[in-house]
Amino acid sequence: MIYRVKEPFFFTIFGASGDLAKLKIFPALYSLAEQKRLPKDYFIVGFARTPKERKEFQKEFYDSVKNKIGKDLNKKILRDLVEHVYYFTGKYDQCESYKELKDFLLKLSGGKMHTHIAYFSVPPTVFKPIIKNLGECRRQKTDDIRLVIEKPFGDDSCSAEELYHFISNYFSEDQVYLLDHFLGKAGVQSILHLRQTNRILNLLLKGYEIANIQITAFEDIGIKDRVGYFEEVGIIKDMIQSHLLQILAFTTMSIPLTTKAESLHREKYSILSAINVPKKPENIVLGQYKEYKKEEGVPANSKTDTFAAIKLYIDQEEWFKVPIYLRTGKKLSAKKTNVIVEFKKFPFQNQEEEPNLLKIELSPEENIIIQLVNKYRSGASQYETIATSKSIACSGDYCLPEHGLLLLDVIRKNKCSFLSFREILASWRVTEDILNLISKHKIKVNKYDDGSGGPSLQNKLVQNDGFNWHK
Ligand code: NDP
Repeated sequence: MIYRVKEPFFFTIFGASGDLAKLKIFPALYSLAEQKRLPKDYFIVGFARTPKERKEFQKEFYDSVKNKIGKDLNKKILRDLVEHVYYFTGKYDQCESYKELKDFLLKLSGGKMHTHIAYFSVPPTVFKPIIKNLGECRRQKTDDIRLVIEKPFGDDSCSAEELYHFISNYFSEDQVYLLDHFLGKAGVQSILHLRQTNRILNLLLKGYEIANIQITAFEDIGIKDRVGYFEEVGIIKDMIQSHLLQILAFTTMSIPLTTKAESLHREKYSILSAINVPKKPENIVLGQYKEYKKEEGVPANSKTDTFAAIKLYIDQEEWFKVPIYLRTGKKLSAKKTNVIVEFKKFPFQNQEEEPNLLKIELSPEENIIIQLVNKYRSGASQYETIATSKSIACSGDYCLPEHGLLLLDVIRKNKCSFLSFREILASWRVTEDILNLISKHKIKVNKYDDGSGGPSLQNKLVQNDGFNWHK
């Protein structure tokens, strides 16, 4: 039985003229419509400063979805969806706009106040005025307003805390959906589901049995039109602060004993708050692709890192001295995201033998691979690696893109695929430890060839511990 939404709702996209809305949110709404998951009455309202007629916005909505979906588009479904789309020109920082928005919504629904989902598809500088005005212009505190806020939440632990307290003046935590789109990916969801449904797998994922874990997220494209944003944040805030730390937490946490979001958040927090960034500078390798400075808008003296490889530990007895390596970069030879768990060997084993591995590939394809080693008594090759591989991609008619799944979860009030504020704060603390180490030791940013595997110095990071990166 698939979940279909029954109750009507308002869905306001603040910053509806931006990229996120066009590339992710509109297509996600289409995927829900295509699977007939939306109710009879719902109202999608684009809110932005740019004056625009409803028809013009409906066309933008239509074209964005058409471009994204391509040849599989069902035009009839999209045309029907667009009939639910409206546009409202307003100012983010003016209470009057919110009062008018409320009247606008009530007029659409014939005076009924439905659940109101407010999606923040604006730069973080605009978050506060929207929160304040949405909060102050409610009819009553009990109005069901849900805020959806994309990462990054704050740009360090102080600003995240400050923003959280600001929100708390107007809304309670259960009304706030803190979104990291990686958590909507089928592969990332599979890490949890595989562990929850396979005791055998979960028994393997114990720190005592593990030699090291390698989490890799490589992109083959460069920064292109995101230079302004990237120059401010760099690869560590962009990729490690939330995406990779979340994957780390999903892989290493204890399995929550209930399916409630609070249990999951508690277990992830337990890992994130125990992460220890070793103090020696050789545990961090930074890089920048050679053509980066030629990207439009990049200053000639830019030291922004587009590659990072980092060793971390988890300060829990089970994970004592188990290195966890994270590495991520742009403009590399291939796009791939994966988790590789290398298991310990027996003391009597030849240490040159290939180790047993559990690989969870998250992109470009989603697979689980178990690699074992068989030993022959005779023959040319004494050892043979046996790998079993199975797709863990979502299959069937009801798979949703990441934002589709997350939107559905907001509507059905399921917070399992969202972050708790405590997790975000713990992740910022890890990020700050990494950034402080970099600035304290003035860690060098190594150049690497575009389309390569990143700076070769990254090999030392694992070799110092007697390991190699797994392909
Ligand atoms: P944009 O920079 O494209 O901004 C979206 C809209 O917000 C603009 O079209 C504009 O609409 C309004 N806006 C922009 N700047 C300001 C400003 N200084 N003051 C007031 N309004 C402004 O953002 P994106 O769509 O790329 O991203 C939206 C949010 O999602 C950001 O917080 C971003 O960090 C996050 N995000 C984006 C991703 C992406 O793929 N783009 C991925 C992950 C997260 P108007 O002027 O018409 O009001």
